[in-house]
Amino acid sequence: MSESIKGFCLHGREKIYPSSDVPVTKNTAVIEMEIPALKKGEILAKTLYTGICGSDNSASLGKANFDWVERPRVIGHEFSAEILELGPGKHGDLKVGDKFTPLAMLGCQDEECPACSVAKWNLCPSKQIIGFHRNGGFGQRVVLETDRVVHLMQGLTPEQGALVEPLSVVVNALHNKCNIKPGQDVVVTGCGIIGLMSAELAKAAGARVLVTGLAHDRDIRLKRAAERGFITLEVSPDNTLKNQLDAGIIDANGIPFGTNGQVDLLIECSGVPQVLTEAISVVRPEGDICVIATYGKEVEINATHLTRTSLNMRGSMGSCREDYMVAQKLMVTGVFPSEHYTDMYDFQNITQAFEDSIKANNMKAVVKMN
Ligand SMILES: [Zn+2]
Ligand SMILES: [Zn+2]
Repeated sequence: MSESIKGFCLHGREKIYPSSDVPVTKNTAVIEMEIPALKKGEILAKTLYTGICGSDNSASLGKANFDWVERPRVIGHEFSAEILELGPGKHGDLKVGDKFTPLAMLGCQDEECPACSVAKWNLCPSKQIIGFHRNGGFGQRVVLETDRVVHLMQGLTPEQGALVEPLSVVVNALHNKCNIKPGQDVVVTGCGIIGLMSAELAKAAGARVLVTGLAHDRDIRLKRAAERGFITLEVSPDNTLKNQLDAGIIDANGIPFGTNGQVDLLIECSGVPQVLTEAISVVRPEGDICVIATYGKEVEINATHLTRTSLNMRGSMGSCREDYMVAQKLMVTGVFPSEHYTDMYDFQNITQAFEDSIKANNMKAVVKMN
């Protein structure tokens, strides 16, 4: 291949604090890529659009929970792509030119594996995440396993294809882990894309939704959330969600939100330990807490309170093929308005896209790869 193929590569593991003077993209670089020969069951694809995930940001900042990622690594697990070449072996109904989005998580597919035997690759102990265990969607070309391919549904744009994976994670959480019912009051903590997607799906399920963020989120993420009709709330260590619920929150129609400072369901998408600690005090007895975030350190939980209020607290990890299909349908039918939450960048500006994302100065950054 004579043309120059580039990729956005994670190479360093220095711990970077976004508020320091160190550039937040110091651990990364745009590189020239070599395309490896295709092994059995692999395909070569041209990436179309790739989204930046919070986990890509965390890895770029050298956070401890991504220490395990080998460097150098071309990251990216949220993307759409077009098949250029089929390698040796069987590829089912796949053909050159097909547009798809990959399953981020590939299970071991061993019959004896409790997760893989029920098609839950997201729970396989030896799952392989594209963009972390092998090079991913921030390369202008990507080599991947046929088994990951999910064809783009009719009517779904390649731009939307980059949002299927994050939306599928939220579908898994909302469908399987949240006991959500119409008329309920739901708090989503955190206004990154996972939080905003959760808010949209909770609203679509008939709930009234409040989204929290920091002062920094006021002009971008919370503003965009408010435009969609969500109640938005700025929180800080001195002015917590609990304080504000206790003081009383009303919606745009003047109707009180929550009952006696408590809500039916809280969906934790912030990854801030104190927020999860506080969560169990703002959910009503027998209410639900769904945790989609991960945490850089241990989280303190008042377990006695959890028992005495009979709360349901459930975690939700990743997604599987079924969730990808639902996520696509939610975009094709307009239930999830993807354009409202997407900021597009050209590949030349990929470093800027990462900088903006790490500093929370945009919505979901999606990069046009070629
Ligand atoms: Zn992700
Ligand atoms: Zn497995």
